[in-house]
Amino acid sequence: MRHRIAVVGSGPGGLTFARVLHRHDHLVTVLERDPGPDARPPGGTLDLHEGLGQRALEKAGLLAEFEALSRPEGQAMRILDTDGTVLRD
Ligand SMILES: Cc1cc2nc3c(=O)[nH]c(=O)nc-3n(C[C@H](O)[C@H](O)[C@H](O)COP(=O)(O)OP(=O)(O)OC[C@H]3O[C@@H](n4cnc5c(N)ncnc54)[C@H](O)[C@@H]3O)c2cc1C
Repeated sequence: MRHRIAVVGSGPGGLTFARVLHRHDHLVTVLERDPGPDARPPGGTLDLHEGLGQRALEKAGLLAEFEALSRPEGQAMRILDTDGTVLRD
């Protein structure tokens, strides 16, 4: 059944949700209180992890575009003792 759905907020969450709903043939209206994209200073790089944000993009059919445009990075932590022996990686 086709629903008319209002999504409040055009942040990453709202836009991704709206896109997923749209792909399922629902009629979606996104409501945003900011008057435009320059109403506030934009943030920095968005962290989108596998199984979380990237999973949402997959559901939205946007993973290929994401992979083409994103800048892969990783985080790692090692704990070494005073001899340089890795205790935890
Ligand atoms: C200072 C700061 C720095 C950050 N830095 C990073 C970072 O470096 N990397 C990272 O991955 N994440 C960062 N984040 C987190 C990231 O911004 C959030 O995870 C992300 O924006 C959440 O998306 P969202 O769609 O849930 O909410 P939001 O991005 O907050 O979007 C919600 C939207 O809803 C609108 N809205 C709210 N109420 C209403 C209403 N009643 N009617 C209409 N519109 C409404 C708001 O105007 C907003 O546009 C940072 C957050 C902050 C505050």
